[in-house]
Amino acid sequence: MTKKLFVERVQNYIGGQWKASANPEHVTITNPATGESLGQVPTGSARDVDDAVKAARAAYPAWRELPAQTRARYLFALRDKMEANYQELLEICTQEHGKTLAESNGDVRRGIDSVEVACGMPSTMLNEGGALEQISAGIDCVTVRQPMGVFAIIAPYNFPSMVPFWFLPYAIASGNTVVVKPSEQVPFSQVRLFELMHEIGLPPGVVNMVNGARDVVNGILDSKDIAGVSFVGSSPVAEHVYARCGATGKRVQALGGAKNFGVVMDDCDWDKSIANIVDSSMGCAGQRCLALSVVVGVGKAYAELEKRLPAALAQVKVGNGMDAGVTMGPVISARHREKVVSYIDKGVAEGAKLVVDGRKLTVASLPKGHWVGPTLFTEVKPEMVIAREEIFGPVVCLMHAKDMDEALKVVKAHPLANASSIYTSNGAHARRWCKEVDAAMVGVNIGVAAPMAFFGFGGSKGSFFGDLKGHGREQVQFYTQNKTSIQRWW
Ligand code: NAD
Repeated sequence: MTKKLFVERVQNYIGGQWKASANPEHVTITNPATGESLGQVPTGSARDVDDAVKAARAAYPAWRELPAQTRARYLFALRDKMEANYQELLEICTQEHGKTLAESNGDVRRGIDSVEVACGMPSTMLNEGGALEQISAGIDCVTVRQPMGVFAIIAPYNFPSMVPFWFLPYAIASGNTVVVKPSEQVPFSQVRLFELMHEIGLPPGVVNMVNGARDVVNGILDSKDIAGVSFVGSSPVAEHVYARCGATGKRVQALGGAKNFGVVMDDCDWDKSIANIVDSSMGCAGQRCLALSVVVGVGKAYAELEKRLPAALAQVKVGNGMDAGVTMGPVISARHREKVVSYIDKGVAEGAKLVVDGRKLTVASLPKGHWVGPTLFTEVKPEMVIAREEIFGPVVCLMHAKDMDEALKVVKAHPLANASSIYTSNGAHARRWCKEVDAAMVGVNIGVAAPMAFFGFGGSKGSFFGDLKGHGREQVQFYTQNKTSIQRWW
């Protein structure tokens, strides 16, 4: 018999054991493509957080005493476990989130990438420190990086497997212990990953998971025993997390929402650029923080985009992400579908031209799915709501700019600055875009400008609250602090 992929009632993982939430209230999670019930998730409570933090604090002294290479060996074992259970992780991700199996492949693979990078923690921690002898007569100076205690990780729904793993491997490899709060909309990928972490024999309390929603987050933010918080989600919540962590003296990195602009020059490679733009804006049904949402056609490029995009969007095959040939799944929930549709309504009302309308799309065999088809607006103006607010659905807004100066002006006026891309075959155009645009992740002929795990990940302006970014070297700096000893031996 094949293993059941979904537990009936999600529990918390605290001190190495699965425990029911102190809050009996549960919500049913359904597969967004089929409507089938997958299981229940607790609403959660601050008491669950207290229990998890207690377990994490108890585990911390012994865990930080382990040599860094011993901690890293647990991650080598976790990597092997994830590879051995790879297909199952993809299927859980697709069924709880709705994205296609190919997209789940990106989700799970990028999580493994971070585990692999964190396996190098002994060298990374060494490189982040430093020593100099004879800074004065007979005196040497040594800086080491030390872990700080318990860190919390709070995740959004759009990458159920990957986002918590932008943080967890680095936090524990550098000697901290963690409490993870997955998105209450997609808890099952993390449940499976925690089962795998249990199987590799991580000491109890090193990794803990508390499920739930707002009360759990606020319990984390108010805890006096948490050293820092890594948050990913929408900008209003990121700002709230940032402010509350500041008020309670915690380190914080809060990655927020996005409104990503792609600028297209008429010297681009048209066939490749159009395919890449469609993949960026329709991938994961537009629910990627790096998705291109506004496409700016510079000069004659606008008319070419107007002509080519409708035909390219018609090629997108919407359906159940588990099925071969499907290139776009549903959005996460009925509520989110309503929100995306209401933005399309707003775009029509404010005078943008709706050229491809995804509002009425249905999938005959899946009447309970949360479907929104590819949608294209042309004649979009910068002041329109659809050009200003994050829609987080498969909607492309096409805008015209007479030259790059005007394109840069529009893009730089936007308060969010997560990612941005340019399509061109001219190096000088590309260089100028990379140099001047505010977004902290910039793509050149790449619509999903995702830095790999050994680079930092995160935006700027209203898309990022904090200082040190997710994964890579900055993550090690976030999870450790400097200690400098000035030594003289008589
Ligand atoms: P969200 O902000 O609704 O939720 C994120 C987390 O915060 C969840 O764990 C949720 O339980 C919690 N939360 C929600 N409302 C809260 C409140 N009022 N008080 C306390 N906690 C609360 O985000 P989402 O809808 O799950 O995810 C989509 C958002 O995440 C988009 O805005 C997207 O751009 C963003 N995102 C950003 C990045 C990035 O790298 N910058 C990556 C992925 C997703």
